[in-house]
Amino acid sequence: MAEQIYDLTVIGGGPGGYVAAIRAAQMGMSVAVVEERSTLGGVCLNEGCIPSKALLDSSELFALARDRFAGHGILIDPPRLDLAALLKRKDGVVKRLTGGIASLFKKHSITLVQGRGHLEPAGGGKEHRVTVSGGESKKQTLKSRRVLLATGGLPVELPDLPFDGKRVVGAREALAFTEVPGHLVVVGGGYIGLELGSVWLRLGSKVTVIEALPALLPHSDPQAVEVLSKALGKQGMEFHLATRVTGGEAKGGKVRLNLEGEKGKTERLDADRVLVAVGRRPASEGLAEAGLELDDRGRVKVDEDYQTSVPGVYAVGDLIPGPMLAHKAMEEGVACIERMEGRKTSVEYPLIPGVIYTHPEIASVGRTEEALREAGVAYRVGKFPFMASGRARCLDETEGFVKVLAAEEGGRLLGVHIVGPRASELIAEATAVMAFEGCTADIALTCHAHPTLAEAFKEAALAAGGEAIHM
Ligand code: NAD
Repeated sequence: MAEQIYDLTVIGGGPGGYVAAIRAAQMGMSVAVVEERSTLGGVCLNEGCIPSKALLDSSELFALARDRFAGHGILIDPPRLDLAALLKRKDGVVKRLTGGIASLFKKHSITLVQGRGHLEPAGGGKEHRVTVSGGESKKQTLKSRRVLLATGGLPVELPDLPFDGKRVVGAREALAFTEVPGHLVVVGGGYIGLELGSVWLRLGSKVTVIEALPALLPHSDPQAVEVLSKALGKQGMEFHLATRVTGGEAKGGKVRLNLEGEKGKTERLDADRVLVAVGRRPASEGLAEAGLELDDRGRVKVDEDYQTSVPGVYAVGDLIPGPMLAHKAMEEGVACIERMEGRKTSVEYPLIPGVIYTHPEIASVGRTEEALREAGVAYRVGKFPFMASGRARCLDETEGFVKVLAAEEGGRLLGVHIVGPRASELIAEATAVMAFEGCTADIALTCHAHPTLAEAFKEAALAAGGEAIHM
């Protein structure tokens, strides 16, 4: 039998890799995917986006029943938590979704090789070689005309507070605590810290967030962050801003953390568990040895076709520059494959939305006021509070607003920032309008169903021209 040479071998079965593999198979390529985990979906499905949203949804229901049902006239005995059942449901959601990708691979005849893939240095021949070891499959070498690297990222560890898998943990372990921690200290007030901090806060932990910067979420709209900070404070989350965690030590079943605040002021804080969420880094180990150029942050350098410095080797997702988001990786995976086939598909980087799944949620797309001012762009602001939305009133979810930033001349949308109920879903309309280079008049002339939260977007667009009806 002739030796199999794949058209494409993908290393990494996360959002960047699995989506690219499916698209490549759809376009007629023979595809192999090397994945170290026993399930597909990468961090996103196994220990990131999906399990965290499953826990956020369950914990939100619990907190609603405990804290808010009475306001709706529903009187119940205080709800009790079955944490094991809650975690089992989350695991079930993950299992169904990762299994779904495995079925899609079968449907598209994609060869899945379980094990750790390693790109061999290019040998001068036509094919690239990927060795696979450590998995269920025997050690083997795959030959491929092209290789796509989609190995994602890894959590950053604090040098003086290393992960121990039990008391000092990253997101993976914090998604599976088998007891509600008494005091959970979260290092880093970013995406992971605020989302997973919210989960355990709702389930009964005391949660303290330590953030090195003077404010949370520095890249988000500051007014939206203010609304969120106040709301989380009301829910009981405590913050130490402008404070760094410089180290810590295990002490009698607890961790004693060393904090350094403004003007070098130091203090100690005891925690039952510490979640370190201070960012992620690209998983690019071994790639320089394979001849790839990396930047000073260890990210793989690619051209506009996502091709690395080694011809025929491509990279997408958290390995390359840009926001470390699953949907960004998916877009890049598709664009990379379609460009291999000669299409001119491109990723609209300025229009990648960002969502923080707290309560209320923050979602945004495009530029912030700060970025527009810095660039000297003349803009108008249209803002509509959920307080004035009929649907938000019925839901009893009136915190927050929709803010539309539009060009002074012509009203083209430049940025949309939402803090409030279902902001994660509402942002899709803004993204679509911006992708079609729409302006405030396009939104104002579009009939929005009443009563819906989406009406707040229309009203904010009207407000940019001083024409909001309900304000
Ligand atoms: P992040 O970059 O969002 O936040 C890390 C925070 O830690 C920063 O605010 C930083 O100032 C702070 N920090 C750093 N060192 C510190 C120290 N010693 N003491 C105190 N604070 C310190 O990183 P993350 O929350 O770990 O998330 C990692 C990545 O995962 C992000 O890039 C994000 O894009 C992605 N993610 C996205 C979502 C989502 O889209 N909803 C959810 C989770 C994760």
